[in-house]
Amino acid sequence: MESEQVIRDIFNDVLGCIIIFDNEGKVTFINNAGQGELGYSLDSLYIHNILCVIFPDKDVDIARYVESASQGEIETPVYRANNTCFPAKVKLNRIVFDNKQSVNIASIINITDEQYLESEMHNAVKHMEDVMRTRNEFVANITHELRTPVNGIKGHVKNLQMEEPDSGKRRTMDIILKCCSNMEKIINDMLDFSKIEAGKFELNIQEFDFRECINHVVETNLPVANEKGIGLSITVAEDIPAKLIGDDLRLTQILNNLISNGMKFTSIGSVKVEVYRTFQKNDVVELTFFVIDTGIGIGPEQKDRLFKSFSQVDGSVTRQYGGTGLGLFVTRQLVELMNGSITVSSERGKGSTFSFTVCFKTNETGRDKEKIISLPSFKQNISIDNENTSEQAFIYGSPENKKQTRSMYEKLLLSVEIGNWEKAEYFADVLKKLLGGADDELKHKLFRMTMSIRKEDYDKSIAYINEMMN
Ligand code: ADP
Repeated sequence: MESEQVIRDIFNDVLGCIIIFDNEGKVTFINNAGQGELGYSLDSLYIHNILCVIFPDKDVDIARYVESASQGEIETPVYRANNTCFPAKVKLNRIVFDNKQSVNIASIINITDEQYLESEMHNAVKHMEDVMRTRNEFVANITHELRTPVNGIKGHVKNLQMEEPDSGKRRTMDIILKCCSNMEKIINDMLDFSKIEAGKFELNIQEFDFRECINHVVETNLPVANEKGIGLSITVAEDIPAKLIGDDLRLTQILNNLISNGMKFTSIGSVKVEVYRTFQKNDVVELTFFVIDTGIGIGPEQKDRLFKSFSQVDGSVTRQYGGTGLGLFVTRQLVELMNGSITVSSERGKGSTFSFTVCFKTNETGRDKEKIISLPSFKQNISIDNENTSEQAFIYGSPENKKQTRSMYEKLLLSVEIGNWEKAEYFADVLKKLLGGADDELKHKLFRMTMSIRKEDYDKSIAYINEMMN
């Protein structure tokens, strides 16, 4: 009897409701929490039955029901003395004593709050999804609509350019066309971004000529490399099959993104691309690409953010180089859609190497059924043009240095002529590096020129630039 009291005392300390009842359903005990939650007093419950509290089916065989339910937990409404009810998790247990007598125990936990939170959470998620969907549709529509006027401007400017005899005006039209191309890139990135967010990003798989695709990438990027006076080269391993099956346009997009970034952040030196076949299993071939530049590089603390949407390493980069920070996010999604991955290794001031793998199918399965190919296993040059290195450019007076210096002068002149002072300042800085070994007189001229550019003084700047060029 004493031990029974101890058990009752323990049950009274429990926070959930505990009810003890016999096989006929007669309640013999209800703990303090149960009395509070259900509104029964101990006395009043003696005249009640467990069937008034838990079981919806009054004809149920209580002993059997408890037996079958004792393995787990049931979710059921539980009724209070005033006939109101609440959702609860109920655990039923049956204890059989040595003298074959038995008792049943129900422990009840009110889950109203839990359910409320769950439904609130569900509503919040649904609301969030609705907002995201509306936003994505909006972005997709707006970007789509923007394409038409940009195409219109491009078409008309091209027509005007053909009829325009004045070279100055033609140059201005070139700048307008370049602005349109930049805008097109942003629009395309935004469209891809909204497709990714909506889970509607898909590849268009077809057979294509790999080297033709690579040649096309070179042709697209070479004009910019030439204009900037930096080298661009692509080296393709010999053992890559001629025909691959995959999405060549998306591969082109990945390469164009990485190469254009490389060129954007490199003022002296080169951007090199190398491609290797690194794995083959039956008809699936894995290619590894390296895009190596000698540009400004990326600090370790910024690398983690690189592949996230709208991430640019810092505000000053955005101001100097422009961009939305979507390119690498889209690039990573594309690479992952092609069953690959992308990484970057870089040191600030020393350039960056972006490497990625992508998988294609091939019909040329004869030579290797399954093979891990070690790097490097090349080589066949697809195109090497304008190849030079940063070291050569920095040796003052070397042919490379002279070539780069002239190219920078021309860009500087053009920037001042069109009043792009930010760019002019940037080119003047590059000139300062290229002329690091020059005599003092030249350095003084350079200094005066830089000051005139900072003051945005057109006449003085033009005069200094011409003086230096002669
Ligand atoms: P965007 O579309 O604006 O070019 P990206 O996602 O391609 O943006 O790049 C995000 C940022 O990563 C850039 O603003 C730049 O700060 C950094 N970055 C990317 N590529 C390079 C690179 N080759 N060298 C140095 N910084 C880079």
